[in-house]
Amino acid sequence: MKAQEKRISDVKRFAGVYRCVECGKCVAVCPMSDMYVNFSIAMSPRGIIKKAIVGENVVGDENIWYCTECNAGTDVCPQGVSCRDLIHGLREIAMDDMIPANMKQCIVCHKPFVAVPVEHFVFARLSAEAPNVIRVLELCPSCRRERYMERNA
Ligand code: SF4
Ligand code: SF4
Repeated sequence: MKAQEKRISDVKRFAGVYRCVECGKCVAVCPMSDMYVNFSIAMSPRGIIKKAIVGENVVGDENIWYCTECNAGTDVCPQGVSCRDLIHGLREIAMDDMIPANMKQCIVCHKPFVAVPVEHFVFARLSAEAPNVIRVLELCPSCRRERYMERNA
């Protein structure tokens, strides 16, 4: 088995995808259905899990970049399947060779820290009412913490 296939297989096993019984509970609580007008089963946790089970190329699937990694679907899953761990692991593999346009980088340390569709949603919500918050969101959580500590030293 090639190295990347082995990693994908490990991520799928770690997330427990083969235990999924397709009950849809994760979809019912997933915030993406409220966030994106193009939300569909292909983007939903259940959809990604199903594609992973049947062996589709989920690492190259653009739908893995919409997830907020909130863990809500994981919390309600009766089978202990983790949509968050699956998507997080697939993203890490996708970012192996290069940082794709799907991840936003911190303007200070340049680490990728949030998926671009999630960032677009947050910015659209905040742009009219909270410009200071928008500036802070240009930084990854580590750089945000450092800046906060500098200001409050
Ligand atoms: S809640 Fe769990 S078992 Fe139900 S569809 Fe989602 S991953 Fe599968
Ligand atoms: S971790 Fe991702 S897929 Fe799972 S409920 Fe949250 S947004 Fe949806």
